[in-house]
Amino acid sequence: MTDFAATKAMFDLPEGMIYLDGNSLGPLPKTAKARVASMIEDEWGQMLITGWNKAGWMQQPLSIGDRIGRLIGAEPGHVVMGDTLSIKVYQAVASALELNPTRRVVLSDNGNFPSDLYIVQGLLKSLGADFELRVVDPEDVAANITEDLAVLMLTEVDYRTGRMHDMKALTELAHAKGVMTVWDLAHSAGAVPVDLAGCQADFAVGCSYKYLNSGPGGPAFIYVAPRHVDAARPALSGWLGHEAPFAFDLDYRPGTGIERMRVGTPPMIQLAALDASMEIWDQVEMADVRAKSITLCDRFIAGIEASCPELTLASPRDGTTRGSQVSFAFEEGYAAMQAVIARGVIGDFRAPDIMRFGFTPLYIDDADVDGAVAIIADVMNNRLWDRPEYKIRAAVT
Ligand SMILES: *Cc1c(COP(=O)(O)O)cnc(C)c1O
Repeated sequence: MTDFAATKAMFDLPEGMIYLDGNSLGPLPKTAKARVASMIEDEWGQMLITGWNKAGWMQQPLSIGDRIGRLIGAEPGHVVMGDTLSIKVYQAVASALELNPTRRVVLSDNGNFPSDLYIVQGLLKSLGADFELRVVDPEDVAANITEDLAVLMLTEVDYRTGRMHDMKALTELAHAKGVMTVWDLAHSAGAVPVDLAGCQADFAVGCSYKYLNSGPGGPAFIYVAPRHVDAARPALSGWLGHEAPFAFDLDYRPGTGIERMRVGTPPMIQLAALDASMEIWDQVEMADVRAKSITLCDRFIAGIEASCPELTLASPRDGTTRGSQVSFAFEEGYAAMQAVIARGVIGDFRAPDIMRFGFTPLYIDDADVDGAVAIIADVMNNRLWDRPEYKIRAAVT
């Protein structure tokens, strides 16, 4: 069993704050401060360029990728870190399209995170007018998996509501129609158990700064199934994905295996922070995280519904079809969330009316849930949100 009291003690959470936004930006692991300081002083400072060999910098995108791979059910050696998630979406969809060369359509849903849709719109525009992005309602995805599709690109857990797609069933349906799959695990990695190998997923991508706590701007990951990786042509053919980067050949030849999905120089300071976070994750079983996360979310839903009649549940009630977050709809949700944040409970707001709360068993416990419910009930029942300063929209909501 994972010891969640022990993991909670490994995070540096501000005194008096109940942090329900680890689904957007994970908190600081205590050891990350020393790990990053040592990376800067002992590695960058003292080793300088020799750190690439001496400190093993060059291998870290793969070794850390494998540690994340354990959490998402990937075969060892098939996950690599680098760039941001938007870039990894581009790479995955571009390679998947080429592996299905007679087809021209990408299917996604309107619950997907906009950046994923924007990236595919941009990619398809470069490829030509005969390529199409088809976007349907999340409930209609299965019925729209047809034999003209090249790629099915979905985010497993809806960023707004936490609704989950059935990865195994949809991947099977896609394969039965000759469709490649790209799964975005932004709200899955570290939130719910994922079994990429068991689901026969083709490509997967995700970020490390949400549930995996690498800090703002931490690198993303990409997975390519072993059966595809030597055939997948990297659309972003950078030197670190070359078979022999230090041969400095003038022509690109893809590297072996997942290394070909590397693009350029990895962000070593940010990877040091991620390394510190993975030391916590290395001690954690995803089955335990899932069980505790469902308990926390159910407790929150019960508490809010019992005390806040104006809030409407916008997430699935059934914990097994919900990610590790709970959302409530409220017309004045933005102002209400600002009032809640001002009282030390940190969630966020997603347009048009969603108050979103993330529950991460690594550092959130039952007492935090009860404390948050009490503050939200106070804000709602005493209309504490109804003040002009809570209605001014900040750049990041
Ligand atoms: C958070 C998130 C992103 C963000 O992409 P970045 O390139 O890291 O800014 C993209 N897609 C999904 C589904 C997300 O949840």
